[in-house]
Amino acid sequence: MTRTRVLLLVTVGLGLAIALPFLAAAGWRAAYKAGKAGAFSGRGTVVMVVLDNVRADHTSLCGYARPTTPNLEALAREGVHTCRAYAPGTWTLPSHASYFTGVPMLDHGAHELPVVDAELASASYARGTGIPIRGLDDKLPTIAEQMASRGYQTAIVSANPVVGKESGLARGFRHGVVSPSFGALMDERVVGAVADTLRDDLDPLGGPLFLFVNLAEAHQPWAAVPEGVGWVPARDTLKFHSSSANNPWYHFPPPEEPSAERDAFLGHLTDVYDYGIWRADRSLGAVLDLLRARGWCGSDCRVVVTSDHGELLGEHGLIDHGFYPWEGNARVPLVATGTREAAIEEPFPGTLVHALALDGTTAGARPGVSQAAFGQAHRARASGGRFYAERMTAAWAGTVKWVWQGALLAKYDLAVDPAETHPLPADDAPPAFTSLRERTRDFSAGQGGDDALREQLEAAGYLEPAPP
Ligand SMILES: [Zn+2]
Repeated sequence: MTRTRVLLLVTVGLGLAIALPFLAAAGWRAAYKAGKAGAFSGRGTVVMVVLDNVRADHTSLCGYARPTTPNLEALAREGVHTCRAYAPGTWTLPSHASYFTGVPMLDHGAHELPVVDAELASASYARGTGIPIRGLDDKLPTIAEQMASRGYQTAIVSANPVVGKESGLARGFRHGVVSPSFGALMDERVVGAVADTLRDDLDPLGGPLFLFVNLAEAHQPWAAVPEGVGWVPARDTLKFHSSSANNPWYHFPPPEEPSAERDAFLGHLTDVYDYGIWRADRSLGAVLDLLRARGWCGSDCRVVVTSDHGELLGEHGLIDHGFYPWEGNARVPLVATGTREAAIEEPFPGTLVHALALDGTTAGARPGVSQAAFGQAHRARASGGRFYAERMTAAWAGTVKWVWQGALLAKYDLAVDPAETHPLPADDAPPAFTSLRERTRDFSAGQGGDDALREQLEAAGYLEPAPP
């Protein structure tokens, strides 16, 4: 063999050695796009799912008589679960901020702003809602950023517009989509959005995947219940929004005025809500099936599913969510697979969802279980002073719950009084609860009635006028 031929062979060999992996990679990527190959990067995938607005006691996972959550039950059989997780906040923004950072609400401060606040002028507004908010502090690292620094590909698919860029909650996610409004990304659309993200945005040969999904089928606006579901009668759609004068909330008869009309409204509300939970659970099942089929979720896949708050369905004379840490609003389900936890301690503080997803364990310091909510002067005025007037703080230990709401300072034993209808003396409240009350008061200091500023903002179109 001449020296030239040897040189030629060596050159060709070297060229192939360099090019073949690239060709193989290109072939794999093309096959993945065509649905003919799974993701090579699927090992180590972490999936966090928030079933928005799902209260624990309306899931069949937690013993509800209607079969609302078969997919959540199937997932729970593969891992650990609790029906006594308490969301870190009373609505979407504070709860997701804690889920993404592991920081309690009173520390991260992401919340709806009171109507009057020194920061209002520089406030951002939650996408698709018109709610003035203080977004997530940009100095707090998010789980998406933490996962990215560990080499993960990060993606978000959120049906709830609040979990977006404006609130700071989408920080750190490289791929995905956030719905522009409530109701736009539901059912097959949200599953399709996950499919598109997996196919178009992710590299099947890149790092492992961290995927966050918010499913909002159980959140208002609720869809009509069609004929033939079986366990729930057909129902018309039921829409309301807290800022609308047509909100039935403002006309909702108090519990001391029982009536057939009140019962009929609550029955309708409960039916469309339960059907919404079933739809959210159906989307959860479809998303998990998709991840498995595309090779992203194998036996070592870590999946953490919970909710960000529940929904009041007439308890304490209330409907809606976001302002009262009563059980219907506060208690959510939690299911986790692929973690190092053998069981979930109860009551479970929602702030630990972050650690459970990030590291697969909640070992270490255990934060207290608590929730706080704040009065809103304009909402209180709109409801004739019946609602939204008071700050409220709750804390849980074992089956005992302490509640502070203005003049009310009470203890409830949830083991014998799950409906919280028999307040007990709260003389033995722990010092931590007292300090929580003080922090809640300080956090919301300044809320009140600067009507001139409010009218200015309304005129400028920043705030919707308070309903009459
Ligand atoms: Zn929410």
